[in-house]
Amino acid sequence: MAETILVVDFGGQYNQLIARRVRECHVYSEIVSYTKAMEAIREKKPAGIIFTGGPNSVYLEDSPSISTEVFELGIPVLGICYGSQLMMHLLGGHVCVAPEREYGKTEVNVDTKSKLFQGVSEKTICWMSHNDYIEKAAPGFTISAYTTNCPVAAMEWPERNLYAVQFHPEVLHTQEGTKMLSNFVYNVCGCKGEWTMDSFVEKSIEAIRAKVGDGKVLCALSGGVDSSVAAVMLAKAVGKQLTCVFVDHGLLRKNESEEVCSVFGPEGPYDLNFICVDARQRFYDKLKGVEEPEKKRKIIGEEFIRVFEEEAKKIGTVDFLVQGTIYPDVVESGAGGESTVIKSHHNVGGLPDYVDFKEIIEPLRDLFKDEVRNAGRQLGIPEYLVSRQPFPGPGLAIRIIGEVTEEKIKMVQDADAIWREEIAAAGEDKNLGQYFAALTNMRSVGVMGDERTYDYAVALRAVTTTDFMTAEPAYLPWDLIAKVTSRIVNEVPHINRVMYDCTGKPPATIEFE
Ligand code: GLN
Repeated sequence: MAETILVVDFGGQYNQLIARRVRECHVYSEIVSYTKAMEAIREKKPAGIIFTGGPNSVYLEDSPSISTEVFELGIPVLGICYGSQLMMHLLGGHVCVAPEREYGKTEVNVDTKSKLFQGVSEKTICWMSHNDYIEKAAPGFTISAYTTNCPVAAMEWPERNLYAVQFHPEVLHTQEGTKMLSNFVYNVCGCKGEWTMDSFVEKSIEAIRAKVGDGKVLCALSGGVDSSVAAVMLAKAVGKQLTCVFVDHGLLRKNESEEVCSVFGPEGPYDLNFICVDARQRFYDKLKGVEEPEKKRKIIGEEFIRVFEEEAKKIGTVDFLVQGTIYPDVVESGAGGESTVIKSHHNVGGLPDYVDFKEIIEPLRDLFKDEVRNAGRQLGIPEYLVSRQPFPGPGLAIRIIGEVTEEKIKMVQDADAIWREEIAAAGEDKNLGQYFAALTNMRSVGVMGDERTYDYAVALRAVTTTDFMTAEPAYLPWDLIAKVTSRIVNEVPHINRVMYDCTGKPPATIEFE
């Protein structure tokens, strides 16, 4: 079995980050709830175990815990924050409310002779977030780090491979955190670092081939990163046994439909059956006169399924349906870790109910988003598809306030294309989580070439975010915004005003509707 670091989740908010950081060190990592941890450890035989942080206090009854057997298995354990407190609590140390809570970037003095802190600076900035503290480490442990307010900031029992840190090495504010995690997986757990995207891609293709046999596979291609990478992986594995259906609902970004068709269509490099359904008019007809956001979303979702279903019927029975589910979807739908169910995940709203198939294939189920992109690069998918930003299923319909018309779609497509082009030219794209143009339903008076105009206002949006749960408006250079404004009013007919959205999430959402 591939070497794995198992992250035992005690409800910490950074649990996914821990697994991501470990994988960045080229070691595969999975998250498991503390309630299922011992079973998972027996089954997966991990090379190392990491306990996450968590909101509870270890000394209170009913707080999440784990059997002390975990320390007897000879498998290295690293406790982080709650995890470190739990380790001490279970092994005879003393945890209580700290006289001084620590929150934020904190200077930590570390013992660089520790295997965990090899190559780390003696004074290093770490991220702290705790109200409780370890007053006394458990017998057998030596203290390997401290801060002004926290006498036990890290502790270890090297002979038994037990390590614990009060701070959060997984958070980027901990300047040498990745180094520490890398020290844990390599120096302590002895991992070899076999988790690379090229080996993942190669193994997945073989596994898919074995599973599919000579069966028929159907994939709904949206043009987004996940479905594109999944489709190419399937195409490489089973070629013509795969049919991809791409529904052009006429609400895509400028040139997007052409881009998808040029990659997956007959001119493209892959040997698969590709069906592009031009359903633009159908969607426009359905959306006529509809102004309410939720209604628009519903109409588009339902119509999408209907179109897809019609195409699927033409193909007849299929054996497998491909879905682009990725690891955060798995964790967030409650299957991976301990964090509460944020959303139940349906990749393409309710599809499985409508299509006749035997089994779902989810080739990206184990990957984080950045890994999906890397797998895509590995598969030779063009960069403009691989680095695409998230795009909502209902597309531009929810970036046009009020009624959707063809004329408005054209406006928002053109304005958005200019915005994206200039952001990329200024090199700002790498710093942004998401950016797009939206058409407000507002018309206002302007003057152009000495003539009065009464035209639309476009809103430019750009946010920074790490997880899309919260977001901040991006502080973009004024020059860039000015240039884009001038280009939009000059190049896009019927737009005479440009605004920049300065709102974060919350209180706004990233999208407009
Ligand atoms: N609840 C514990 C404390 O306040 C642990 C916090 C954490 O894991 N971030 O100390």
